Amino acid sequence: MKNFEEEYNVFQDALEIPKPWYVFHNELAKEENTLHIYIEYQSGAEFSCPNCGKTGCKVHDIQDQDRTWRHLNFWQYKTILHARMPRVKCESCGKIRTVVIDWARPGAGFSLLFEHHVLSLMVEMPVAAVAREVGEHDMRLWRVFKYYVNKAMENIDVSNVTRIAMDETSRAKGHKYVTFFIDMDTKRLIFATTGKGADVLQVFSQFLDSKGVLHSQIKEFCCDMSPAFISGIEEKFPNATITFDKFHVMKMVNEALDQVRKQEQATQPELKNSRYAWLKNPENLTEKQGSKLAKLKDLDLATGRAYRMKLSLQKMWTKHPILSELYFDEWHSWAIRSRLEPMIKVAKTLKQHKGGILRWFVTKMTNGLLEGINSLVQATKRKARGYRTADNFIAMAYATVNKLDLIGIS
Ligand SMILES: [Zn+2]
Repeated sequence: MKNFEEEYNVFQDALEIPKPWYVFHNELAKEENTLHIYIEYQSGAEFSCPNCGKTGCKVHDIQDQDRTWRHLNFWQYKTILHARMPRVKCESCGKIRTVVIDWARPGAGFSLLFEHHVLSLMVEMPVAAVAREVGEHDMRLWRVFKYYVNKAMENIDVSNVTRIAMDETSRAKGHKYVTFFIDMDTKRLIFATTGKGADVLQVFSQFLDSKGVLHSQIKEFCCDMSPAFISGIEEKFPNATITFDKFHVMKMVNEALDQVRKQEQATQPELKNSRYAWLKNPENLTEKQGSKLAKLKDLDLATGRAYRMKLSLQKMWTKHPILSELYFDEWHSWAIRSRLEPMIKVAKTLKQHKGGILRWFVTKMTNGLLEGINSLVQATKRKARGYRTADNFIAMAYATVNKLDLIGIS
């Protein structure tokens, strides 16, 4: 072993490897396009005990094999750090342990700087592109990514959470669902899990248990009218009330309206190609759709009546809370008497959920935030061309929605 002070080495300087480690050799393997940098510790060096932290432990033995770490490229060369790792025997705790190093996490095959480089690319670029760029398999990159995301998520404080918005999204073809739980007050994605059945509430309650949050602390949920969500909440969070998301309510009414249109189209050919004119909000119509709708509305159509019912229900959320129940009841009896089967059916469903729909006038909770998250997640999904696993998908959602600082933590 050479003495540390012996000669200046540019890699030594650039790598900022702390004493007692130093670069003792480097080798450019041009045919492999790789720079190998060999690191050693000064003879007689002492290390801290990885077990109890005692300083000044002498080296007990040294591994025969090099350990290697992929590091940031040096110019165009892939760079690999090599070192044989010493083990120390601690006089204080008596353990024999491999020393801890500063340039990589225990067990990692990448240096910290390389990992940070990969993380910064992964939040910006499709993972497949990052994998190509750095010449590593994407599964390896995902493992690094998840390590840092999970670490950052551990630091998120959920002790004050009381109001939850939850919704499911499909992460891939074939109905692979993930359900998201958002803290309404901090607007953070605090939890996500696979599936969309009542069991997601069970898994969520276990998550709260692990964080020491009492179930009784959760006072409000906002979700769609999924029977699985409702029964899951009632069972696991009996103290909580549910607000049904108004966007989901309107989506159901829009679906009923569309069924009315489809049925009527068989006898009214002028309804052809009018689907979006009826479904969009009036202010979002194109000029062509607007004039088409104006013409159709003048005809005495069942679709026109269903459309007016939709617009009427939409106005409910602008009413004074005192009038909301009366307004709902009037709307309901109008729909029930409409003789339009899809509208009657949806009116009955809404009546069964009236309490949760009108709860909005107290809580003002919606899943609007989750819609934003869904579109973000969908965009990321397209970008990434598939996440391979739900874990990867969830990790990317945590990172993007919560804008996690992955590099600042370690
Ligand atoms: Zn020790």
